[in-house]
Amino acid sequence: MRPNSLHAADIAHMVHQQTDLDAHGRDGAILITRGEGCRVYDTEGKDYIEGMAALWCASLGFSEKRLADAAYRQMLELPYYHTFSGMGHAPSVRLAEKLAEIAPPGLNHVLFQSSGSESNDAAIKIIWYFNNLIGRPHKKKLIGRLRGYHGNTVAAASLSGQPLMHLDFDLPLSDRFLHISNPNYYREHTPGETEDAFSARMAAELEQLIEREGPETIAAFFAEPVQGGGGALTPPRGYFQAIQAVLKKHDILFVADEVICGFGRTGNRWGSETYGIQPDMLSCAKQLTASYQPLSALLISDRIHAALIEGSRKNGRFGHGFTYGGHPVACAVALETLAIYEERDILGHVRAVSPVFLEGLEALREHPLVGDVRGVGLIAGVELMADKAARTPFPVSAKVGQRVQDACIAAGLIIRAIGDRMAFTPPLIITAAEVQEMLLRFRRALDDVW
Ligand code: PLP
Repeated sequence: MRPNSLHAADIAHMVHQQTDLDAHGRDGAILITRGEGCRVYDTEGKDYIEGMAALWCASLGFSEKRLADAAYRQMLELPYYHTFSGMGHAPSVRLAEKLAEIAPPGLNHVLFQSSGSESNDAAIKIIWYFNNLIGRPHKKKLIGRLRGYHGNTVAAASLSGQPLMHLDFDLPLSDRFLHISNPNYYREHTPGETEDAFSARMAAELEQLIEREGPETIAAFFAEPVQGGGGALTPPRGYFQAIQAVLKKHDILFVADEVICGFGRTGNRWGSETYGIQPDMLSCAKQLTASYQPLSALLISDRIHAALIEGSRKNGRFGHGFTYGGHPVACAVALETLAIYEERDILGHVRAVSPVFLEGLEALREHPLVGDVRGVGLIAGVELMADKAARTPFPVSAKVGQRVQDACIAAGLIIRAIGDRMAFTPPLIITAAEVQEMLLRFRRALDDVW
């Protein structure tokens, strides 16, 4: 490595996120310099198909000029303004109006922040505020799922069920954060147990936890319709129906974390639509702006919003806000993104290309490394197994997922190993031919490791 090179500076000064910093100090990082459609290029000019849309987010790929133009126009007109103290600006209002129009039923109010973490963090605060205002000061506990991922603020990381986001960070912050099992049917079902029976068992576990803690102490349940950071994991059949029945019985709110699923990832606009979820609040981000700008939106039901108004009557104002929440440039880019989704019928495109993607992955089931394949729309996970008949995983120390990920990089494909589950979430604009090429590169990587 040359002194003063980009790579040397990276090692000397950058603290990479969610990274093995020890390995980074030795090996450095792959630095991406430009993108074109579904591909990105590194400093050596090597091309990669971005099978993850970067962080499950670059839905329109890496060269959508209309979004750059929308940002530029807004920067010339009004580069910054806020929404504090009764002030505001047109792009945020127009975007809130649009989101209320396309939201799942009853979610008519929108709180903008800059990231998915902030949106979930705000959801947690609003749930506590809501229950205080409606006279339920003891109903405060929140239930997430093991391996669930809701972000990195102190509260959102506490709610997440990812061990490395807790270990040595002194999280979860308090006993208000509870977790139930991860519904990975393939790995966790007992011999002969059907998906419906497995889902009923998961719901029974939830109910036992609620009864043990006392339903009067449990405020809300958070779930991603399809888990992202937990391994691109689709729910087993009947799961959300069974879970929602338990929540309704005990008057517990459902917050849908659609930071990954929102805007077409599952083949419908919302993952909630795909799985029959009726959320009380919904977090979305990432594909809201195709990730050309940082923006998230928390969609809030009329009932909860009424309590926020009540809170202002009681306390004087809604005491929450971020400088960059609802940034006008981000909102302008989001409006353009949503217009592109409609004009180009991105949902129709996802539905057309999804069978090529899912059937192509399904064909890999006969590969000796592949134990299970599951997906929906343009999100899928491939579970690598040492012995698929006996469902025996590889020992963690074998780092098989990491080795497959490295082999993919060598083959010019970026996907993500989550343990030994390989996650795929390509840009929503990916063509059938690009899907075929992505799968070819993946098979080559599997063969290399095998
Ligand atoms: N929720 C889910 C489901 C996510 O996948 C993520 C990030 O990947 C987040 C929340 C956090 O979003 P952000 O990284 O924008 O804070």
